[in-house]
Amino acid sequence: MKLVFLGPPGVGKGTIADMLKEKVNLMKLSTGDLFRENIKQNTGLGKKANEYIKEGKLVPDDVTIDIVKDRIQRKDNYLLDGFPRTVPQAEALETFAKIDYVVNFKANDKEIIKRLSGRRTCPSCKSNFNIQTLPPKSEGKCDNCNSKLIQREDDKPEAIKKRLIVYKQQTEPLIEYYKKKKILVEVNAEQIPEKVFQDTLKALKL
Ligand code: AMP
Repeated sequence: MKLVFLGPPGVGKGTIADMLKEKVNLMKLSTGDLFRENIKQNTGLGKKANEYIKEGKLVPDDVTIDIVKDRIQRKDNYLLDGFPRTVPQAEALETFAKIDYVVNFKANDKEIIKRLSGRRTCPSCKSNFNIQTLPPKSEGKCDNCNSKLIQREDDKPEAIKKRLIVYKQQTEPLIEYYKKKKILVEVNAEQIPEKVFQDTLKALKL
């Protein structure tokens, strides 16, 4: 099965992707995680991506498309978390993959801002927590690997504003794009993660 998870930043795509990966044999490819890993290792790609990410902008299409193409070509089961994010990316994806379903996770702006500003991330195992809605068992520490949790640079107020604008301008048009292709399913993401997960399984007939 080939899936795309679509939705505004902070809607919980990554959390649901991790839950789904446990249940179904899928490779999860998060372009955001991939860029952050490269930034951490200070690679050429990381340096380039960081110029955009730290300002809440999108990394250019050509850079992003090549990376995704390279990782998923000839693979059968995967979930793309955070790709495509622009119409040109979606058009490019069509040339090298036949996606079965695109899941659109929906939540209002107020909820998104609350989630992004409260999000704390584990730099080691990439688990996400939220100081308001999903706090770690021990304050500031990852439940899974005990590393010190951090707030992503782009989860700070100025970058959040920018990311939401970018989402509306560049990514939201993909909802119509995939509706027309008749592969879009929608899930209400303003619920607790377990319920969002159950609704996702239903939407995907799993
Ligand atoms: P995420 O973790 O998915 O919120 O991604 C973090 C940041 O990585 C985004 O704000 C973008 O700057 C960049 N990024 C991730 N995926 C893409 C993509 N498909 N196209 C362009 N930039 C991306």
